[in-house]
Amino acid sequence: MSYDKPLPVIDHDSAPYWDAAREGRLDIPLCDDCGKHHFYPRAVCPHCFSDKLTFDTVSGRGTVHTFTIATRPAGPAFADDVPYVVALIDLEEGPRMMSRVKTDDPYGVNIGDKVEVIFVKATDEVTFPYFKLAV
Ligand SMILES: [Zn+2]
Repeated sequence: MSYDKPLPVIDHDSAPYWDAAREGRLDIPLCDDCGKHHFYPRAVCPHCFSDKLTFDTVSGRGTVHTFTIATRPAGPAFADDVPYVVALIDLEEGPRMMSRVKTDDPYGVNIGDKVEVIFVKATDEVTFPYFKLAV
């Protein structure tokens, strides 16, 4: 089955994140100098500008900071997905990341809901970290 939605461009900085997702882990950069996590992956820490970064496996638990419900498909490939939830998730470790909340009831999602990561394979190379409501 072919995948006809846009795919991320995987570069030097983000490759460990995508490698981990493919293996079912949420790994995000951790700064060896200031001890803070950040997201998205990049060459230097946004807190202290250090380039001493390692990827750390985090809990995958977070909270819905805000969200929108997409009701109009962004293109034909998304027609079967709508309505779907695009959310900003505040991870327990601090960083905020944009993702989807996968649920059978998009209109039941609320700001402040607890979520946990799930992994949705798109292609052999790309698996997306999405979230589901925590029970
Ligand atoms: Zn830092």
